[in-house]
Amino acid sequence: MDGGGGRRVVVIGGGVAGSLLCKSLQFDADVTLIDPKEYFEITWANLRAMVEPSFGERSVINHRDYLTNGRIVTSVAVNITEKEVLTAEGQEIPYDYLVIATGHNDPVPQTREQRLNEFKEENEKITSAQSILIVGGGPTGVEFAGEIAVDFPEKNVTLVHSGSRLLEFIGQKAADKALEWLRSKNVEVKLQQRVDLNSTADSNDGKTYHTSTGETLRADCHFLCTGKPLGSAWLKDTMLKDSLDKHGRLMVDEHLRVKGRKKIFAVGDITDIPEIKQGYLAQNQASMTAKNLKLLMTGKQESKLASYKPGSTLAIVSLGRRDAVAQFPFMTVCGIFPGMIKSRDMFVGKTRKKMGL
Ligand SMILES: Cc1cc2nc3c(=O)[nH]c(=O)nc-3n(C[C@H](O)[C@H](O)[C@H](O)COP(=O)(O)OP(=O)(O)OC[C@H]3O[C@@H](n4cnc5c(N)ncnc54)[C@H](O)[C@@H]3O)c2cc1C
Repeated sequence: MDGGGGRRVVVIGGGVAGSLLCKSLQFDADVTLIDPKEYFEITWANLRAMVEPSFGERSVINHRDYLTNGRIVTSVAVNITEKEVLTAEGQEIPYDYLVIATGHNDPVPQTREQRLNEFKEENEKITSAQSILIVGGGPTGVEFAGEIAVDFPEKNVTLVHSGSRLLEFIGQKAADKALEWLRSKNVEVKLQQRVDLNSTADSNDGKTYHTSTGETLRADCHFLCTGKPLGSAWLKDTMLKDSLDKHGRLMVDEHLRVKGRKKIFAVGDITDIPEIKQGYLAQNQASMTAKNLKLLMTGKQESKLASYKPGSTLAIVSLGRRDAVAQFPFMTVCGIFPGMIKSRDMFVGKTRKKMGL
């Protein structure tokens, strides 16, 4: 199949985009996946796995289960040259084509077993607490509050968010509906204040927390649900440092190649594509890039490459096991209908199928 440009494809990052890309290319190229963990996890199912640890059995998938014909390097990439990728362990991995898919940085354990145990520990923390403080009102904080409110209605849940509204990544209507839903489930939501986690103190009945508005809150434990940093800090010391925009995103052309580079692509949350950062869009980018790489490897001309068009503003935030709030391009709805789309199995079946499992 080699069109003269070589067929070694190295993919950095085994998240939603990188894993699908590897799976799609494995029988058409010499694929190497570099990822610090041995597994791919369906990130949006993690919060369900915290309230129901066995849920993780299907949402945490060893890379080897879907990547049967590729090399897996369990490490982080720390540098890139024109010809190879350097890992933290000092391995030099040569490439003909490189794809960067390092999305967001989430320090999680290396093995699947450790990750499943982590869900059990988090679950014990939830079940043994009577009152829980959630710090952060983005998708993670809101979905997590929803999971606890539905599965453990007897617990007191407080959610503190620094912004003036929840879910700032989508529209005001969705935020209002989510707020209304959470309050209807007795979740206490406090906006425009920050929790100072350095001033936390143990008291007779749990812990006390202080917020930026001078309030004192009491809870048995807290969960930090603030946004994860982009996985691009390591690129700042590489030859791609000038390819990062001011937010730390990789600037790409219409074919998802890093601007000015012919053989280096980027997919998923790490790119500067002006669209809402969602996994289904990261998957679309991965599928298109797999096709483009196949064309390039068979010697097709650049004019044959597909171009990426930014996606719509569709996003669904689950609210427990039955409900969700969905932002569709022309309307926003909350309740059982969007819940039927996402909240029962959190797209786990659909994602596994996409991965050939
Ligand atoms: C609570 C929540 C709910 C969500 N719900 C949905 C939903 O319902 N539907 C949807 O479509 N999207 C949803 N999303 C968004 C979705 O999770 C992201 O858009 C998606 O994960 C992006 O995929 P990615 O492959 O770009 O990055 P990620 O999935 O973040 O993967 C990045 C990978 O890169 C690896 N990595 C990082 N740095 C390095 C390095 N230096 N070397 C090697 N590997 C590295 C990481 O280990 C990780 O495996 C949700 C997000 C959240 C937080």
